[in-house]
Amino acid sequence: MVIGGDHVEAAGGRMIETLDPATGHVIGHFPAADSGDVDRAVSNSRKALKGDWQSVTPAERGRILNRTAALIRNDADRLARIETLESGKPLREARGDIETAAGYFEYYAGMADKLQGDSIPLGKDFMSFTLHEPVGVTAHIIPWNFPLVTTARGVAPALAAGNTAVVKPAEQTSLTSLILADILEQAGLPKGVCNVITGYGNEAGGPLTAHPDIAHVTFTGSVPTGKTVMKSAADHVASVTLELGGKSPVVVLADADIDAAVEGTLKAIYLNAGQVCSAGSRLVVERSVHAQMMDRLVPRAEALTLGHGLDDPPLGPVISADQLARIDGYVRGAKSRSVKVATGGSIVEVDSMEGGFFFAPTILDDLPIDEVVVQEEIFGPVLCVQIVDSPEEAIAVANGTEFGLVAGIYTRDIARALRFARDVDAGQVFINQFFAGGIATPFGGTKNSGFGREKGLAALASYFQVKCITARI
Ligand code: NAD
Repeated sequence: MVIGGDHVEAAGGRMIETLDPATGHVIGHFPAADSGDVDRAVSNSRKALKGDWQSVTPAERGRILNRTAALIRNDADRLARIETLESGKPLREARGDIETAAGYFEYYAGMADKLQGDSIPLGKDFMSFTLHEPVGVTAHIIPWNFPLVTTARGVAPALAAGNTAVVKPAEQTSLTSLILADILEQAGLPKGVCNVITGYGNEAGGPLTAHPDIAHVTFTGSVPTGKTVMKSAADHVASVTLELGGKSPVVVLADADIDAAVEGTLKAIYLNAGQVCSAGSRLVVERSVHAQMMDRLVPRAEALTLGHGLDDPPLGPVISADQLARIDGYVRGAKSRSVKVATGGSIVEVDSMEGGFFFAPTILDDLPIDEVVVQEEIFGPVLCVQIVDSPEEAIAVANGTEFGLVAGIYTRDIARALRFARDVDAGQVFINQFFAGGIATPFGGTKNSGFGREKGLAALASYFQVKCITARI
């Protein structure tokens, strides 16, 4: 782990194995931190906050972040290969993620010296102004589906605003966060400003979010863990950003550009084998174009071959045996309730990778709103199709789950698209291109998908507090 710039073992000496999900083989080990290690990391980050980091000017903070972006790009090939080996995702997707991670550092580098307050006119006898101060030591709990990019998404704005950070990557995918700690140091970040501790959620993540010196927790992961994190942050009145996944709809209306809708739907559900918090895992389609969409989607899904991420196949494995069993459980449950499986629907063995965690690209058709697979996040390559009879019904169906992360719509009628955007429960809406946007577009949820915003300028709000100073003169 990296604490205070040093590479350290866990005090208890325990290690965790990391696996290649395509083969099930062990590819590395890293330390299993406990609460004593968490204490060390947080007190180090606190010392750095009150010490060296305070005397680095905002412009220099920006230069450090820019150098970090450049160093990530220099090392992109190695980082992408490691990320593919640990997460299973196809190499081109990992390369895209590494470039996006560099992009976050670059984007927030530009903001480091532009976080400025206001002056408030109170009349000639007063002077009043605000300062933007860092919140303090921030904790970053990272999931396994986008390891480096999620780390960069939180750490870059936190550092830009003058905070320090303790990162706890997922126990399945910790290696690139550890490398990032070295890159940040090489870029000139003072020791201790960003510490990375590895370990299990309950042993390392729990003590980190409960630590009284943590001022803000940025969490990405499941709804139950998010609730636990929020409760533990409440005990010491730390603020939280929760990004908890979704069951996001891709709405296709009768007047849509069907070519674009087909491409958008495939990308929405099969990127990273569906293990994406903002995946479009529900296709909500108007009845008159349902058959046309299915005729196009099914053969395209069947053509997606599975393979080792390093060979850059259309689709890689899912992250773990547990995740594979969870996806299989959902699909078996749906089959037992006579749901129509249009394609896929089972675990597959891929040649020469018997120990791998592969699930066939799957489409479940004509599902009622109360079907379990429509309501719950499966987090796998499983598209759930819902048929509607009007644009109004499409909005009701889109809103018919407890989630509200993103929503997409395909239609040539821009007024209709904007009415959908107005009425849908979602933190972001994609019109005629699913996943439109990027680093600069604010991202976050409503309802059980969480709250707080990451990405864009909106993310910075979590990482500074406003102090107002008023003088009688
Ligand atoms: P999780 O929420 O348990 O884990 C996410 C992160 O939280 C990991 O770093 C984990 O170590 C940490 N964590 C776990 N328990 C903790 C605790 N008590 N305190 C602090 N941190 C803790 O998710 P998971 O078990 O890896 O995956 C389960 C499901 O979560 C998936 O099937 C999927 O539905 C969902 N998920 C969503 C996202 C997303 O991007 N929204 C990402 C990963 C998983």
